Amino acid sequence: MTDTAQNGAPGRIVLVTGGNRGIGRAIAEAFIAQGDRVAVTTRNGGAPDGALDVRCDITDAAQVDAAFTTIEAELGPVEVLVANAGITKDTLLLRMSDEDWSSVIDTNLTGSYRLVRRAAKGMLKLRRGRIVLVSSVVGLLGSAGQVNYAASKSGLVGMARSIARELGSRSITANVVAPGFVETDMTEVLSDEQRAAVKGQVPLGRYARPEEVAGAVTWLASEQAAYVTGAVIPVDGGLGMGH
Ligand code: NDP
Repeated sequence: MTDTAQNGAPGRIVLVTGGNRGIGRAIAEAFIAQGDRVAVTTRNGGAPDGALDVRCDITDAAQVDAAFTTIEAELGPVEVLVANAGITKDTLLLRMSDEDWSSVIDTNLTGSYRLVRRAAKGMLKLRRGRIVLVSSVVGLLGSAGQVNYAASKSGLVGMARSIARELGSRSITANVVAPGFVETDMTEVLSDEQRAAVKGQVPLGRYARPEEVAGAVTWLASEQAAYVTGAVIPVDGGLGMGH
């Protein structure tokens, strides 16, 4: 089998950050179900059955490095990185503190950068790899009360496209998945009024299930998507159409 043929074949070593709940858990479970060897990193543990459970706060470069070292020792070099872990600290611009801004940027954007930079070392040696960054429709559309979050998620698009250009010659792809509203802890906090308003704007008239986001991620990591890089794949029920 050539390197290119292996790129996307099942049985690979996959790292999903934030894989203990919500979208990340669904992504980890989907890779496990198709026979990949999956490591899940979180701050609090609770990886799904069949995944290597690794503690790692992605705001700390030393913890990111240590997590990769553990995964490399236990499973081998990471071939598929899914940078999914993320947070919100929503508030209107004039009420936003520097901490609200910097913690969201540090987790969602800089955290993804720390992961990608560390993962790229192993992928360059392998001369193959798949990088999927979990962004949001909000990164493309903007959202009142989410200046920090939208900036962090928008930044992931420029990051993925730059990585796609920088590492493409080594058969490493970098893509973005941009979910709309998904049923998870993150959206649980919205009021009934806010939820109804969101659904009213979504052509499909409902929230996504985490598994529906996982489908796009596993596809981007699959052999079928070997020629897809620098793409932004919306999984948003049509909410962000045209962006
Ligand atoms: P949840 O709030 O359900 O889960 C967030 C995950 O991120 C948890 O696993 C959490 O693990 C992890 N995490 C948060 N901060 C850190 C950190 N500093 N270091 C390591 N892990 C961390 O989120 P969702 O499943 O809803 O969202 C997953 C991704 O999808 C996020 O990037 C989010 O922005 C994005 N998204 C979500 C949408 C939605 O509607 N839900 C819509 C569009 C995008 P732990 O707390 O154990 O560390």
